[in-house]
Amino acid sequence: MSKIDVDKILKKLNNWDTQLIFTVVKMEENRLIFLDSEIFIFENQIQFKHYRKFGQRTVLSNFKNSKMSKKYLKSNIITQCNNVLDACSTYEIFLSSLDDLKNLLYRNEYPKYLVREKIDIFLNSQGKPDLPDFDAILCLNYTSPQTEYYARKLITKMKLLLPNFHVSLALKTVKISQLFSKSAKGPEESKIETANTNYHFICPCKSDYVGRCKRPLDHRIKEHFRSSKDSDNHIHDHINSCPHYMKKIRKILRDAKSSQLKPRQVWTLKIDNFRSHFHILKKNFKNYFDRSNTEAYFIRTLRPTLNCQKDFKCFAIF
Ligand SMILES: [Zn+2]
Repeated sequence: MSKIDVDKILKKLNNWDTQLIFTVVKMEENRLIFLDSEIFIFENQIQFKHYRKFGQRTVLSNFKNSKMSKKYLKSNIITQCNNVLDACSTYEIFLSSLDDLKNLLYRNEYPKYLVREKIDIFLNSQGKPDLPDFDAILCLNYTSPQTEYYARKLITKMKLLLPNFHVSLALKTVKISQLFSKSAKGPEESKIETANTNYHFICPCKSDYVGRCKRPLDHRIKEHFRSSKDSDNHIHDHINSCPHYMKKIRKILRDAKSSQLKPRQVWTLKIDNFRSHFHILKKNFKNYFDRSNTEAYFIRTLRPTLNCQKDFKCFAIF
């Protein structure tokens, strides 16, 4: 075909629709790539074979490391065979392309025996392997490779009881929307992280203390646990002289000794026990005054025994 003819035909084609633009690609080195096909001329005839873009040549889902289900990785061999077959103009060309496909699968760590077995099935069934008969489908959300492992184990056990009842396994992906409930609210923050609180400490002997804290409560709890120059030591002084509290500590120390715990682990047990005596009375105050007023209210109403006298004067109307 002359260049003038090509231009003439192209012009005509492009007059059909302004949204549709045709272009001409010339054959180079007796080949032309179109989508996943390579077009070439063999014995004066146009032929096709399967083509992979550079980069995809080596990348399939890796058989060993992919998180995909093994069932689907295995069936991918048949899918790849079909893709190659569909892109080839003759069955002979398809057969000669199979070595490329095998090498591609081996590079992606597919076991050789499996590749050979699946390709044999494909060749013997003319591209449509028979689906095994089954009586029921077990359909599960695929959340990790273990899903398939346990599902297979279950099916094997079912087979022992009901050898003639055939179950097929289907795995489906979980939608993001399934992971979020529209009605659920966030979990209640633990008292460790909650900031901006009024809190209440109650000793096993019923002695108690009311305080306020702008920072995460756990910071304040640790200050109470240690003796501190900067803040009052009412709670610290009390627990170290309270027989009820010390009884529990002695039990923790005895248990720790028999379990041969390290000093750090013993400290963790002691602080956990101490923390368990704190409760949040209120949280999410608007500002310092809000927090202080409410603390004064609790001090006046709960009459905590460990607060000092000046704490009671803050809110004189009670
Ligand atoms: Zn006490």
